[in-house]
Amino acid sequence: MIPFVLAALAVLLVWVAPGLMARQKGFRRAPRSALWAWQAVAVGGILAALAAAPAALPLLVGDDDPMAHLWLVVPAVLVSALVVVRLLVAGHRVGTRLRRVRTDHRELVDIVAQHDQRMRILQHPTPTAYCIPGRQSRVVLSQGVLDALPPDQLEAVVAHEEAHLRGRHDLLLEFFSVVHSAVPEPLRSPPALGEVRLLVEALADRAAVRHSGELATARALMTLAGSQAPEAALGVGTTAPVRLRLLADGPPHPALSVIAYSYAAVTVTLPLVLLGLAWA
Ligand SMILES: [Zn+2]
Repeated sequence: MIPFVLAALAVLLVWVAPGLMARQKGFRRAPRSALWAWQAVAVGGILAALAAAPAALPLLVGDDDPMAHLWLVVPAVLVSALVVVRLLVAGHRVGTRLRRVRTDHRELVDIVAQHDQRMRILQHPTPTAYCIPGRQSRVVLSQGVLDALPPDQLEAVVAHEEAHLRGRHDLLLEFFSVVHSAVPEPLRSPPALGEVRLLVEALADRAAVRHSGELATARALMTLAGSQAPEAALGVGTTAPVRLRLLADGPPHPALSVIAYSYAAVTVTLPLVLLGLAWA
């Protein structure tokens, strides 16, 4: 029955858990550990689906009548194969598209914007700040944001964008986009993807607070609230009202991180334990 349990666990982690987790808004105060929990659930779901086939194999090799178990083995192999194919296709599609959009935008910015080392200044009055991640990353600021923000708030904005680039938050978001696309459409959870994006922003805000303080970060966020970033870039102004509230709430209770890390450890380990039991 273990292959069946693994397939059920995969559905639980891919379909049920993200919807429930997206409702646990308290974990936004501990974005780093919450993101670990989100990654663990996605990895756990994939591992459970991939382990279904190998977990079914002992039924064929260790039994006098292996054909009697085909009803369990065939679906398990199909589940694992389907997951591999969908992940590869989604990874190729999402990755290719993101890199093309970013390269096009970076080339455009390099042509039209003023250069200031890794920063690019767009001559536009609307206050906007975002980063274009990748190997040739850029922090892009509009003239409007330079005019609107005093130096300490501007430093907070740059610290926020550099935290995205340093932490390679783009790869994290790409991973979730791939998993999201690989899941069959009826099982997808759009609120889950939105929650992960918000956690990434909250994590970069923490870096800005460490660099420039809470007040400067909050004021910069208020100025940039509602500012738009191009597709495939990471903008500072999105989801600003929720993040302002998170800044006001202050540091999380330590128990939140302990719960999130424990949950992450269990969700990744469980499929491997079940696979081990199948071969025991
Ligand atoms: Zn951001």
